[in-house]
Amino acid sequence: MVTRMPALTFIRKGRLEWRDVPAPCLHGPHEALVRPLVASRCDGDCLFLFHDVSRALQLGAALHVIDPEVRELGDRPFAGPFAYGHECIAEVIDVGDAVRGVAIGQRVVVPWAISCGACGTCRRGLTSQCERKASALAAYGFGGRTGGWGGMVSDVLRVPFADAMLVPIPPGVSPIALAGASDNLPDAWRTVAPHLRAEPGAPVLVVGGAARSIGLYAAGIAVALGASRVDYLDGDPVNLAIAERLGANPIARRPQARWLRGPLLPLATRYPITVDASNRQAGLELAIRALAPGGVCTAVGFYFRCGTPLPLWHMYLKGARLHVGVSNPRADLPDVLDLIASGRFDPTLVTPRVSSWEEAPEAFLDRDAAKAVVTRLPPSDPLRCSAVRVGAL
Ligand SMILES: [Zn+2]
Ligand SMILES: [Zn+2]
Repeated sequence: MVTRMPALTFIRKGRLEWRDVPAPCLHGPHEALVRPLVASRCDGDCLFLFHDVSRALQLGAALHVIDPEVRELGDRPFAGPFAYGHECIAEVIDVGDAVRGVAIGQRVVVPWAISCGACGTCRRGLTSQCERKASALAAYGFGGRTGGWGGMVSDVLRVPFADAMLVPIPPGVSPIALAGASDNLPDAWRTVAPHLRAEPGAPVLVVGGAARSIGLYAAGIAVALGASRVDYLDGDPVNLAIAERLGANPIARRPQARWLRGPLLPLATRYPITVDASNRQAGLELAIRALAPGGVCTAVGFYFRCGTPLPLWHMYLKGARLHVGVSNPRADLPDVLDLIASGRFDPTLVTPRVSSWEEAPEAFLDRDAAKAVVTRLPPSDPLRCSAVRVGAL
């Protein structure tokens, strides 16, 4: 008998609703079933939650102004209905006979992408590009063209390579503090941590914007990892206030100001490390032009157009490096979780409001939240508080 469950379902721009779907079951000895307890909104979700991006991409593809590879996401990319959500902390509720790394009852991070952990690409740390995927992306929360793995705002999630994918959360760390660990936290970590390791104390510039939580997490992580200065540029006063609480230096960009005109940045400063979280071509250009010689810029936004212009002459003269690409949470999570468990970086400053599971349709459509988080941890749960580590703060 097939058990059914409610799954939060993306219908179209501005509309999420609970739909009754078949609950998944184990398909083999290496799999696990988990029950999500905390779920959050990836910055990338805002694209289809708040904009008719599917229609825009279809039109853009017809006019040949969109990169043709966008079609790998289907003829109607991001078109609902599909089970929503690819960030969660979950409890293991069943495991196959061959699973050794996790046990029933354990709380785990579930990375957004399916990865086997054994292929050459996974072993190189590019776990979101696992060679065993059958489509351009194999992931939760994007519907059938990404494998039909379901969404994370549901009762049961099937994890095909349990030992390779699931990462137990550190003892005593609140699952609420780890909202975003499936994607946006490691996405932010990789923009600054490896580069600060290579150049300890280097100043960092974060150009904030559409990738709201990623930009803010990146600023907070850079502060925690000892950057001598973290400048955070944004036009949003809420984001600027959060950045300041994280220990970064907020720089207000007038919303109507031309990106590259005016006193946007202290001109004397050039940064070995910059982050473009703006999802704007002008923001990307600013992040590149602000680099010190040999510096590295990581752009986390979606640039769908055919051939986004880049200041290549400037990059040539400065020996600049530009890194783009999806996050690889499974590879980076051990370091990310260590940092959060240390108490040096508190991600809950980015997610001050947490809603109940039942409120998910409204919570995920709240434009004001830098990052929306829902939970069904019982009120009596000792870790159901905003502190990163109970007793540590
Ligand atoms: Zn995401
Ligand atoms: Zn693999």
